[in-house]
Amino acid sequence: MPAMPSPLHRNPITSAESPAVGVTIEKLSKNFGRLQALKNVSFDVEPGEIFVLMGPSGSGKSVLLKHIVGLELPSAGRVLIEGRDATAEGTLESVRIAMVFQAGALFNSLSVYDNLALYPREHRLGTEPVIRERVMRALQILSLENSATKFPSELSGGMKKRVAIARALVMEPQLMLYDEPTSELDPVMAATISEIIATLKDEYHVTSIVVSHDRELALGIADRIGILMGGALVYLGPPADLKSPADPRLADFFHPQIDLKNPRFKNLET
Ligand code: ADP
Ligand code: MG
Repeated sequence: MPAMPSPLHRNPITSAESPAVGVTIEKLSKNFGRLQALKNVSFDVEPGEIFVLMGPSGSGKSVLLKHIVGLELPSAGRVLIEGRDATAEGTLESVRIAMVFQAGALFNSLSVYDNLALYPREHRLGTEPVIRERVMRALQILSLENSATKFPSELSGGMKKRVAIARALVMEPQLMLYDEPTSELDPVMAATISEIIATLKDEYHVTSIVVSHDRELALGIADRIGILMGGALVYLGPPADLKSPADPRLADFFHPQIDLKNPRFKNLET
């Protein structure tokens, strides 16, 4: 990853103590009709860790993330947050979990400032001046101070992703979930987002689960990587072990070979 100037080494946002939380995925299976989207998946995410969940398109990454925030319910198995079943009453309310959705999920009718202020206003987390300070700090951390009055339609893809992360930060989360935070970004912006995720972990001790098929991001910032294929966990371990994987499925995923003698798309030739 190229060295990036860090916008983050100013004004920590978290004033309150917010211990990072651990997450356990325990024999998790999910069926949609006859489709087995998740097959008996188990792993632990340690408090404060950056865990990157990888895998080809359709392998079950987003479905797994949705189980952590209760947007999907398991067909079998459990998700534990700090040892408590995510589906049990009160578990999700007891931890501050922020999810950065793939498309940003910003409200187009609200300015950047009002998008960020929405959560603290709805949860009455302070008077308007207190909320203002929190929002402006999150914007500053992501170098978005000058975009507070803009609307989502006026922002580039990279800026929208940064606004989505800033909005999550305003919650002072203990657990950050990211779904494809670098998709559709150019390599420089993707590296910046990677650096932001890594710095948030270092400075705020947040636990991060990042769903991505961005190999640069995974190898650059992950403490550990899990790889899903067809709903099953086929790898769990540190990034270093993926440099030259023995498993041919992993080798192909990380270093796809294009066989010029046997082009798969030869039917396209005229
Ligand atoms: P990805 O790894 O690309 O994020 P997903 O987790 O979104 O993949 O999806 C895994 C599989 O589950 C896909 O085949 C997808 O079509 C299917 N799927 C996801 N959500 C639903 C749903 N709500 N109903 C039916 N099938 C779904
Ligand atoms: Mg997905």
